[in-house]
Amino acid sequence: MQNNSGLVIVGAGQAGSELALAARQQGWTHPILLLGDEPDLPYQRPPLSKTYLCGKSDFASLALRQAAAYEAACVSLRLGARLKSIHRQNHTIELEDGEHIPYSKLALCTGGRARPWICEGMNPLLPPTNLLTLRTRADADAMRAALRAGTRLVVVGGGYVGLEVAASARTLGVHVTVLEAQPRVLARVAGQPLSDFITNAHRAAGVDVKTGAEIHRVVCENNSIVRVELVDGNAVPADVVVAGIGMLPNTEAAIAAGLATNEGIPVDELSATADPDIVAAGDCTFQHIALYDQHMRLESVPNALEQARSAAAWICGQAKPNQAVPWFWSDQYDLKLQLVGLSQGHDRCVVRGQPEQRSFCLFYLRGNRILAADAVNRPADFMQVRRALGSPHAIHVDPEALADESVPLKVTLAPQV
Ligand SMILES: Cc1cc2nc3c(=O)[nH]c(=O)nc-3n(C[C@H](O)[C@H](O)[C@H](O)COP(=O)(O)OP(=O)(O)OC[C@H]3O[C@@H](n4cnc5c(N)ncnc54)[C@H](O)[C@@H]3O)c2cc1C
Repeated sequence: MQNNSGLVIVGAGQAGSELALAARQQGWTHPILLLGDEPDLPYQRPPLSKTYLCGKSDFASLALRQAAAYEAACVSLRLGARLKSIHRQNHTIELEDGEHIPYSKLALCTGGRARPWICEGMNPLLPPTNLLTLRTRADADAMRAALRAGTRLVVVGGGYVGLEVAASARTLGVHVTVLEAQPRVLARVAGQPLSDFITNAHRAAGVDVKTGAEIHRVVCENNSIVRVELVDGNAVPADVVVAGIGMLPNTEAAIAAGLATNEGIPVDELSATADPDIVAAGDCTFQHIALYDQHMRLESVPNALEQARSAAAWICGQAKPNQAVPWFWSDQYDLKLQLVGLSQGHDRCVVRGQPEQRSFCLFYLRGNRILAADAVNRPADFMQVRRALGSPHAIHVDPEALADESVPLKVTLAPQV
């Protein structure tokens, strides 16, 4: 048994790396062990579908911190090590290689994995060799190697990751078809005007976006998908298929320890779990968003960072609740999308600016209250609305003024007294 009864952080990703350094900064004086099953130093995932996939950034530039930063903070890194189980009664974790490690505090930051796609025509025991998903550096390297100019790529799923892969693949000269079963892309997360705009942007870039495209089956030869057949009778030939249908939280050990469900590890706004000595942060958690009174998983870098900082504080005996407004970004072609708030329950969408000029905001309102906003190539507007949504007062606006660019956004968003 290793002699380390301090803070053990499982999952050396965005949340785990932040939590380790934040715990040290916030006064944790005992040992910190950050362990993860990937072989690399903790790195940023967002570029995997963007600059890294199209060869515009190298892997070294993705590192969240250099090894020296962990050394300087006395954080021991253990890479290539996988958690198998948590033994809460005796405060130990067990690794897959059988080693037991004691902890006084445990942080679970195990993220998620790509949701597997299974369809008629595939052998579930032997997934097709050209069916790819994207979560890790290894996935991105495999995708990069498979995407050459002229390759025919079929992307299953018109969510953010699928659309980013489509955009990056187009810049590599790949022929891309996106198959989205819903009537529009980003149906779960964006309003109709943004879905329409993004669809048009992809079509203008040469992507064949098929919405309402229900897949009937795939046809395989030599365990490779050669064709995707749709319910409407159309078929799309394929050299490579990417499934971008969301993620599953890595919660098996937490479920076995009685700390989680299939939806994630429930945490409060301090990142505390049901066990007083265990916190959790990032994509593996399931939380209540007080501002919107909704329970959900937030799969984003800003959320991983905020939860990690709250968890670090809680471990150090301080209550620093995470009350940040959820936000997210996506880069596709020359488009910088920034999204803030949760739009569920909106009854009106207000557009400010001109989608045809590739610069506009979309506001989601319930009555006169702004719930959320999407900004396309409008970072200054995004910052203003993010600040406004983060203020303690609900933001009520005149929808006409919101759409009117001659009225400064700052004036429209000012709290009404
Ligand atoms: C392709 C892609 C693009 C994205 N783009 C954006 C974006 O533009 N904007 C944005 O905000 N977010 C984006 N995200 C989401 C963002 O990357 C995640 O929300 C963030 O990485 C979550 O951090 P995390 O620490 O919870 O999980 P991760 O960063 O996934 O880290 C979890 C780590 O735990 C490890 N692990 C899992 N199980 C075990 C175990 N049993 N034992 C040991 N280690 C384990 C995993 O291998 C992983 O290394 C993107 C994600 C992907 C995949």
